[in-house]
Amino acid sequence: PRHNVPSNLNDKIRVCVRKRPLSKKELARNEKDIATINSQRTLLINEPKTKVDLTRFVEQHTFVFDDVFDADADNETVYRRTALPLVEYIFHGGKATCFAYGQTGSGKTFTMLDQKHGLYVLAARDIFTLLQDQRFGHLAAYIGFYEIYQGQLYDLLNQRKKLFAREDGKKNVIISGLQEYTIDNVDSLVQVFDYGNTVRSTGSTGANEDSSRSHAILQIVLKHKNNRKKFHGKLSFIDLAGSERGADRGDADKQTRMEGAEINKSLLALKECIRALDQDKRHTPFRQSKLTQVLKDSFVGNSRTCMIATISPNISNSEHTLNTLRYADRVK
Ligand code: ADP
Ligand code: MG
Repeated sequence: PRHNVPSNLNDKIRVCVRKRPLSKKELARNEKDIATINSQRTLLINEPKTKVDLTRFVEQHTFVFDDVFDADADNETVYRRTALPLVEYIFHGGKATCFAYGQTGSGKTFTMLDQKHGLYVLAARDIFTLLQDQRFGHLAAYIGFYEIYQGQLYDLLNQRKKLFAREDGKKNVIISGLQEYTIDNVDSLVQVFDYGNTVRSTGSTGANEDSSRSHAILQIVLKHKNNRKKFHGKLSFIDLAGSERGADRGDADKQTRMEGAEINKSLLALKECIRALDQDKRHTPFRQSKLTQVLKDSFVGNSRTCMIATISPNISNSEHTLNTLRYADRVK
């Protein structure tokens, strides 16, 4: 069976799951933990019988992924088995993407973009170290940070300026006008990133926006020091919009429904594109969403993708948790 075969860190696509601990509130409410990890690769979910009676279980679901991280795994551990191989890969001239997918509150930002020990910081630390190496002395790292909200790109490092994606002659996706910073140390990166984050959460169009409604993309591009046009490799960290927002919510106001439809479209397109990657399909539906359009060059040619599906273990979120796991299961 699949779960007995160790997963290969160098696979073109890796799909991992991370369970967060129960929160203080959930513990105070005595909520049950429905997610059990019983091997490096398998996860059991106990589904409650009804939404009202959360004490009796009906069904047990088993899922197998490339890696499953339990609630006590720290970001360093997760990093070593997810983003670290991607860091090595981009130094060999490839393009790589690391996603966090999951419901709001399940740990996407904690995993990817936590200010102090998110995967982006750990990766940057190693990238900056490698750049000190003689072999890579001709390269420099350029950092960009933007978000996709309602199918539109906004620069988080430049006052939420609108951005447009296009392709250069070599099929690289170029985000026109994106503010890029040449950074060579973690402290400066965190500083720049913090600034971008305040821009993200407040937004410019009012209180109606919060981070779970947009996809945030932090990209680290390796280019030649003396010629910025000479591209070497690219690593993107993506904190996706809350997956529950893509669900059909007939009761919501028009704005929320429109946002939801857009999020749903992009998450479906993402799934299709990653699947096509694995099957070397001819037709990949990049154009179906802005998210997949900007990631197009990371899906074709030399590319690696790692998806981290984050789940909340508490019983009242079991429906969202199962949706997340089914999505992740279908990606591979
Ligand atoms: P999301 O970005 O998916 O909405 P967050 O990353 O903001 O979720 O996480 C929600 C809360 O849970 C935060 O307070 C965060 O610090 C905490 N949290 C998430 N994942 C973990 C984890 N693996 N270990 C400890 N705390 C976590
Ligand atoms: Mg978040």
